[in-house]
Amino acid sequence: MPTDDLYSRDAYLATAEADVIGAMEEGVVLDRTVFYPRGGGQPGDTGTIRWDGGEARVGDTVKRGADVLHVLEPGQPAPPTGTAVTAEVDWARRHRLMRTHTALHALSGIVFTDYGARVTGGNMEPGVARMDFELDSISQEFGREVEEKLNAALAEDHPVHVGLLPRRQALADPDLIRTKVNLIPEQVDPIRVIDIEGIDKQADGGTHVRSTAEVGTVRVVKTESKGRGFKRMRIELQD
Ligand SMILES: [Zn+2]
Repeated sequence: MPTDDLYSRDAYLATAEADVIGAMEEGVVLDRTVFYPRGGGQPGDTGTIRWDGGEARVGDTVKRGADVLHVLEPGQPAPPTGTAVTAEVDWARRHRLMRTHTALHALSGIVFTDYGARVTGGNMEPGVARMDFELDSISQEFGREVEEKLNAALAEDHPVHVGLLPRRQALADPDLIRTKVNLIPEQVDPIRVIDIEGIDKQADGGTHVRSTAEVGTVRVVKTESKGRGFKRMRIELQD
C-alpha cells in the first residue's frame, strides 16, 4: 500500500498518528502522512516525528514512487519499521506556503482573465514566490495594476475548493485546458483540481488555504523580462 496522503484531502491537518512502513538511511516512509512532498512548485514540508523513546527532525519531504519519504536531517535517528509515531509538520511554515500557493493561483487567474497571458512556470518559498508568463511586455505599472487587482480579488474572500474530477471531464473543461491539463500523465485519474471560485481553476497537487481572505495582502516586488514572450513577476506576502 502506498502512503495515504492525508494532506491532499485536508490541508489543515498538522499532525497525524502513523506507523513506520519503511526506514532507510535517507528517511522514513509512513502508512499515512500530513507531510506534503515537494512538487508543483511547492517545497516539501519540514517537521518532527516522535515515538516512544525518540524523536527525529524531518528536513524535507519528497515523493518516492507512490510513497512519501520523510527525509531526516543529518544525524537524526530513524524509528524502525513497525514503530507507531506521531508526525507533526512545522505548521507556521506550511500555512505560509498554503497562503503563498493560493496567492499564485489567484495571480495566474487574474493575469489570464485580464491580460490573456498564460503561466509558463512558477516556484515558491514560504511567503515569497515567482511566476513566469507568456507576455510580450511587462512594466512596473503593469506590476502595480496586477497587484491592485489581485488584492481586491483576494479581499472578496472567494472560497477555495479541492475536488477530484474524472480525467475525461477534466480534459473537456476549458479552464483546465488553459492550464494544460492534457500534460498530466495518462494514468492519473481522477485529477485533483483546485478551484478558487470565480478566479482560477487548475489541476494541482498542492496545499491551499480555504478562502482567499486568508492569503492576506500581497505585494508585487519585481517585474522583469527574461526574453521575448517570457516575463517574470515576483510577489511576497505582506505579513
Ligand atoms: Zn499550484
